[in-house]
Formats: sequence, structure tokens, C-alpha cells
Amino acid sequence: MKIKSVNLETVCGITSKMPENDKLEVAFAGRSNVGKSTLINGLMNRKSLARTSSQPGKTQTVNFYNINDLLYFVDLPGYGYAKVSQQTVEKWGKMINRYLDGSKVLRLIFLLVDIRHKPNQNDLQMYEWCTHYGFNPIIIATKADKIKRSQKAKQIKQIKETLQVVEGTPVIPYSSMTKEGREEIWEYIDMVYEG
Ligand code: GDP
Repeated sequence: MKIKSVNLETVCGITSKMPENDKLEVAFAGRSNVGKSTLINGLMNRKSLARTSSQPGKTQTVNFYNINDLLYFVDLPGYGYAKVSQQTVEKWGKMINRYLDGSKVLRLIFLLVDIRHKPNQNDLQMYEWCTHYGFNPIIIATKADKIKRSQKAKQIKQIKETLQVVEGTPVIPYSSMTKEGREEIWEYIDMVYEG
């Protein structure tokens, strides 16, 4: 897709009502610092529209980006930042569940994990919430430039096994440096609005 317009249309905090959008949604979830803002900016060809993690875990909002007046990118709050309180963790969980449960136009979820690390409890939780609401998330393994090419298959296998992904689930290595994976991610997004 050629990006013509991007507009951060709605920002939902813990008490805000989620929008009832009339265009389809593609959501992005992942741990703080996994590279979610960088990926979203990279897909939108914007340098810094999506927030970056200067204050990891602090911004507990769900952000809706209107892309070309055709679909929405939904940036879900990052999780797993060590220094936040239990109360914040609970708020995060509630907000994610409220969104996953409530959206009638969500069609695809990308779950981001760092290609270098074994997914943790929070990642598993997120994956389970997605499947609970009937979604099979596509996994994006970020920061692929940080490992040797020879390690890639092993890391992807570990991610699949740890998350116990549904058979056939794609795990797409992505790098914001080399743009590896960008085309493949767009192919899945294109399929959403092309139907
Ligand atoms: P977020 O908290 O998930 O939104 O993470 P950010 O997008 O802010 O990224 C966290 C840090 O990882 C930043 O310093 C980014 O520059 C860096 N980063 C993100 N993606 C990549 C990548 O593909 N490769 C490398 N080498 N660094 C990345």
C-alpha cells in the first residue's frame, strides 16, 4: 500500500470509551521496548509519529491511526516494564481485554517479540488473550539485525515452542535497520482490507 495519509485519530486512556470504527483494524501488541513504535513508524513511513519508549510502560493508551482513510493501525499499550506497579499491570490487562472483546472490526493482531529472547510470561498471557477472543496472532520477531543469520531458525523455533503457537502461525523476522520483513508484514495487512 502506498501511504498517502496517516492520522492519529483516537487515543484511549483507561476510562475512555473505545471508538466504534467503521473501517477494519490491525492491532500491534508487545512488550515495552520490543520495537513496536519503531515498527509502526516504519510501516507508516513516518519517523516519529508513534511514540517511542522514552518512558517505557508509562503510556497506557490504545492509539488508533487512520491509514489512508482505509483502515486503522491500533497501537496497544506496551507491557512488562519492570518498574510499574501491580495496579498499572492490572489496568493494562483490563484495557487490552476491553479492546479485544469490544472491537467489531479488528481483523488481525501482530504480536511482537524480540528475536533474541525467549518469550516471557507476559508474552504468553498476551498470546492467550488473543486466542481467547478468537484471534490467531501473527508473530513478528523484532530486531532481527541483532542476531547472526545462522541463529535465526533456532530463535524462531524457540519462539514458536514457547508461545505454543497454532500450527501454521507465521513468525516474521523484522529489522527496522535493514527493513527485512517489511514487505511480508504489508502482504498480511493488504489481505485484511482487500478481503
Ligand atoms: P517500543 O517500546 O516497543 O515502542 O520500542 P521502540 O520502538 O521505542 O524501540 C526500543 C529500542 O529498540 C529503540 O532504541 C529502538 O531504536 C530499538 N529498535 C527498535 N527496532 C529495532 C530493530 O529492528 N533493530 C535494532 N537494532 N534496534 C531496534
